[in-house]
Amino acid sequence: MKHFRLLIAGTPAETSRYADVLNPSTGEVVGKMPVATADDAEKAIASAKYAFPGWAAKSSAERAEAVSAIAAKIEENAEELATLLTQEQGKPLGGIGSRFEIGGAVAWTRYTASLDLPVEVIQDTPEGRVELHRKPIGVVASITPWNWPVMIACWHIMPAIRAGNTVVIKPSPNTPLSTIRLVEIINEVVPAGVVNIITGENELGSFLTSHPDVGKVVFTGSTPTGRKVMESASATVKRLTLELGGNDAGIVLPDADPKAIAEGLFWGAFINNGQTCAALKRLYVHDSLYDGVCDALVSYAANIKTGDGMADDSMLGPLQNRMQFDIVSSYVRDAVAKGARVLTGGTPTNGPGFFYPVTLVADIDHGTDLVDKEQFGPALPIIRYSDVEEAIAKANDSESGLGGSVWSSDIEKAKAIAARMECGSVWINNHGAIQPNAPFGGVKQSGVGVEFGMEGLKEMTTVQSVFIPG
Ligand code: NAD
Repeated sequence: MKHFRLLIAGTPAETSRYADVLNPSTGEVVGKMPVATADDAEKAIASAKYAFPGWAAKSSAERAEAVSAIAAKIEENAEELATLLTQEQGKPLGGIGSRFEIGGAVAWTRYTASLDLPVEVIQDTPEGRVELHRKPIGVVASITPWNWPVMIACWHIMPAIRAGNTVVIKPSPNTPLSTIRLVEIINEVVPAGVVNIITGENELGSFLTSHPDVGKVVFTGSTPTGRKVMESASATVKRLTLELGGNDAGIVLPDADPKAIAEGLFWGAFINNGQTCAALKRLYVHDSLYDGVCDALVSYAANIKTGDGMADDSMLGPLQNRMQFDIVSSYVRDAVAKGARVLTGGTPTNGPGFFYPVTLVADIDHGTDLVDKEQFGPALPIIRYSDVEEAIAKANDSESGLGGSVWSSDIEKAKAIAARMECGSVWINNHGAIQPNAPFGGVKQSGVGVEFGMEGLKEMTTVQSVFIPG
C-alpha cells in the first residue's frame, strides 16, 4: 500500500503516523495519508515564509511562465491524477467526473497564468502622480473540501502564486492523496517552499488559520467551519476568502418547456452526485407544468447509471463518506415522514460503498430538512408554486446565497427575475456552469470574497497607493 508523504520546502517528509484513505465505492484502502503534527505544520509555514521574498521578487512574466508550465505538467499527468481522484473521491473517471475535474484544473491554471496585475495610474497631473500597486500578501493557507479536491486546490494555489504569494495547503482528510500528487507536480516547476502540503486531522486547519505568519486564508468548505475560520483568523486580522455552503434555488417559469430543460435541470442538481457547492438544491416549478417537469426529470433519471467510479458505464459514483450518506438518508426520511412523495429513488443501497440512488422528491415545501438545509447529495426537492412572487420570496428565504437559476423560454423575463435573486451567481436555463473568467463567490452566509478572473486574483494581493510629487 502506497504511503504518501508531506511535501515541505520541496522535500518529501515522513510522519510518525499514517491513516488509511478509503475508496467510497468499495471500502478498500486507496493509500496511506501522512498525519502531520503541529510541528510539521510549523515547518511548512516556516518554509513558505522563507520562500516568500524570493518568489515575490520574481517578475510577473516569470511567475506567469511557471503557472503556465504547471498547467502543462498537470495535463501530462492527467490520467494518473484522475485515477487517484476517482479512487479516493468516488466520482466516475469519465463523464462529468475525474477527467473532467482534471481538465478544469488545467483550464483554470492556464487562465490564471494569462492574467496580470499591472500598476494602475489613478492620477497623473502637474500636482502629482498616484499609482495603485498590488503586492502579494505573504504566506497563504489553503484549506480545501472533499468534493472537487484537485480543481479547488488549483483555484486556491494558482492565483496565490501567480500574485507572488507562497502557500501551505491542507486538503480534506477524506481526499488528500490526489492533492499530494498535485503538489508534487507543482514542485517540479516552482522553487522549494513556494507550495507546501500538510495532511491530517481538522486541527491542522485551525493551526493554520490562527498562525501569526499566515497572511491570508482561502477556505472552501461548509458554513459552520467557515465561521470557525473567521473567528480564528480574527486575532491576527488575516485576509480571508471564504467559499462556503449553498442551498441554490432554481425557478421554472410557466413558459418553460419541461422536456427541453430536463437535462440541464438534472445535471445542475446531480453533478458530482449533488456534492457540489453551487448545485441546484431546491427546484421551484409553476403549478401549470409541475407534473410535466417531474415526469421529464424522472424519465431522464431512468437512464443514469450509478456505480463504482472505475467502471466504464458509471455516470454517478457513491457519496464520498458515511457522514454525507447519513445526512442525505435522514433528510429524505424526514421529507417522507412529513408527507412528501418520492418520485424515484429514496432507498439507500446496502454496502459496500456509500451508494445512494438519484432521488426526486415532489409535494414538498419549506419546513423540511431537504428544502431548508444543504443536502449535498443526490436528492432534489421539487416545490410547487402558483405565483412567481411567492417563488422568488421562497428562493430568497435562505441564509445561503451562492448560486441560483431561472428557467424560461423568454430570456428577458428570466433576466428580470434573475436580477432579484439573492446569490453571487445566477444562470438562465443552466445551473452551476462556472468559468475561469467570471468571478464566483457567495452572498449572505455563503461566503466572503470571490475567486476566479481578475477579481479573484486581486484578492490574493494587498493594495498600496503610491503618491509621487508633481
Ligand atoms: P468542511 O467544512 O467539513 O471541511 C472543509 C475543510 O476544512 C477540510 O479540509 C477540513 O479538514 C477543514 N477544517 C475542519 N475543521 C476546521 C477548522 N476548525 N478550522 C480550519 N479548517 C477546518 O467541508 P466539507 O464537508 O469538506 O465540504 C463540503 C462543504 O463545502 C459544503 O457545505 C459545500 O457547499 C462547501 N463547498 C463550497 C464551495 C464554494 O465554492 N462555495 C465549494 C465546494 C464545497
